[in-house]
Amino acid sequence: MKIIDIITKEKLSLSFEVFPPKTETGFESVKAATEEIARLRPAFMSVTYGAGGGTSRYTLDIAKNLKDAYGIPALEHLTCVSSTKETVRQRIAEIKEAGIENVMALRGDIPAEMRGSDRSGWDYRYAIDLVCELREANPDFCIGAACYPEIHPESRDQKEDIGYLREKVDAGCDFLTTQMFFDNNLLYNFLYKIREAGITVPVVPGIMPITNANQVTRSIELSGSFMPQRFKSLMDKFGSDPAAMKQAGIAYATDQIIDLYANGITNVHVYSMNKPDIAAKIQANLSDILGK
Ligand code: FAD
Repeated sequence: MKIIDIITKEKLSLSFEVFPPKTETGFESVKAATEEIARLRPAFMSVTYGAGGGTSRYTLDIAKNLKDAYGIPALEHLTCVSSTKETVRQRIAEIKEAGIENVMALRGDIPAEMRGSDRSGWDYRYAIDLVCELREANPDFCIGAACYPEIHPESRDQKEDIGYLREKVDAGCDFLTTQMFFDNNLLYNFLYKIREAGITVPVVPGIMPITNANQVTRSIELSGSFMPQRFKSLMDKFGSDPAAMKQAGIAYATDQIIDLYANGITNVHVYSMNKPDIAAKIQANLSDILGK
């Protein structure tokens, strides 16, 4: 099933993101965690892809298992920036052969050794290059791409970022998923601006439940997300008590999701980080709202 057909339904839904193992040794435990999440019957599940090799090998195995064994629509991530045309075309052929209909087209982070180099000879410079490649390989793919309510860290300003986003969408994206954010007003503001800029595809908000103190530093470093005072207070009070922090982080994410539903969003994507207990608790908190 295509993601676009799921997220445009009026029924409220949750979807979850998982990531593949880095090594073969971790495969069985990651697979088991993703299967536990699949048993919650989310609307769909996405499987991330390590830029430049890394954890890319197992993305397809995990996605295919979720689709074939659990009937969960799978969204396969694919990055392009440090790959050759040959590798990307091979991956696309494998995705097609596995019967995966949904692909998240990403540039990926530029590896440290490539930063500042002349990009003119690169096979892929931006995610838009991959969107075009995927569209050409299979006009039937449902293609998603990333967007940034707080602008991408490499962008000069939001106007420029949204301008490039519009080009990426026009190249053939069916929907967008956002970077994590901790203040819903940032999303509402962003939606207003992209609609004004003529971007009309559905936007799926991505919510990251912060359940331990270390994760905060890591997440902020990676995403550059703004931490509202309300969240900082919660961290100050509960950050040194792991169980309390987990409960508070789940409650905060739940609150964000309820507010998004109340403001017209129908599907929210949860960065569940291979943690079935967290996915289950969030879903349980929303059981009556979701009718589950
Ligand atoms: P792009 O859309 O190419 O944008 C990157 C930057 O280039 C932006 O600043 C943009 O404004 C600018 N830009 C775009 N086009 C042009 C142009 N023509 N000329 C000049 N500038 C331009 N990473 C992974 O490695 N694996 C994953 O599975 C993964 N999943 C993700 C899922 C989501 C929902 C999100 C939000 C991010 C994900 N990432 C993942 C991280 C992502 O790869 C990085 O954020 C990366 O730095 C940018 O990727 P992009 O696809 O948004 O790039």
